[in-house]
Amino acid sequence: MSGTGRVWLVGAGPGDPGLITRKGAACLRRADLVLYDALVHPRVVAIARHAQRFFVGKRAGRHQLSQAEIHTVMIRAAQRGRRVVRLKGGDPFVFGRGGEEALAVAAAGIPCEVVPGVTSAVAAPAMAGIPVTQRGVAAGVLVLSGHDEAAFTNALAAVQPSAVTLVVLMGHARRAGLAAALIGRGWQPMTPAAIVRDGTLPEQHVWRGTLAQLAAPTAETTSEGIGPAMLVIGEVAALDVLDARRTLPNPATATDVDAVAAAASLRAGRTRPAVT
Ligand code: SAH
Repeated sequence: MSGTGRVWLVGAGPGDPGLITRKGAACLRRADLVLYDALVHPRVVAIARHAQRFFVGKRAGRHQLSQAEIHTVMIRAAQRGRRVVRLKGGDPFVFGRGGEEALAVAAAGIPCEVVPGVTSAVAAPAMAGIPVTQRGVAAGVLVLSGHDEAAFTNALAAVQPSAVTLVVLMGHARRAGLAAALIGRGWQPMTPAAIVRDGTLPEQHVWRGTLAQLAAPTAETTSEGIGPAMLVIGEVAALDVLDARRTLPNPATATDVDAVAAAASLRAGRTRPAVT
């Protein structure tokens, strides 16, 4: 063992390759081996131009490598003195199993560092014009996994209906059941809801409606794309602070001169991806 090997758990950011951190990019440039997941943008993987790069995520519903195999590959490579980057979508510790990987690497006596990433849980709503904790509208945000409906319902027991914004990752396919569970716990069916798919990417798509519409199993809520999608539930889901036409007064009827001027200049400077 050369003793110089090390593992970095690096967050790749939410999708847009421009949203990786400088520190994450520096780790990739120095890496010998990169193990990356499905949601990582190819341009982020390409930063590691001197490294061997392996896809270890899920393809067509099947894992290329089991979690235990990923641990073994990282540990063996680091024991041989290699600089290993484990590259994960968003932030490695937000539903990314990064914590388990850090524990496994540390248990093997190998130095392990984490380079946090911009999580999609905040960035995808942001690019849809939804500030997850808009002042006066939402006092906080709760990020949940929708993967397991029982665990989801359990976590909900901890919050008063509508007290916070809910961001639900890995819940798009089960959205009807999850929304019904919320209504069952006292959330108002008219609570605003949004679905953000391919957040931060040029193909970003946003659907807006209500919790009741999400709960209707037949609801045509979003064109079913292949990209990752999340649910945003709460009053903030009705906001689009990047679109003056939605959030600022209509210049034809408004009397507040400053607000109208702000609306006009915002409209002129709109740069985010189009919401369809
Ligand atoms: N560690 C990641 C989340 C991993 S869980 C992070 O911090 O972002 C994967 C889930 O995240 C997906 O099922 C989807 O619900 C959500 N997700 C990830 N990237 C997304 C994106 N660009 N747009 C919308 N949802 C996204």
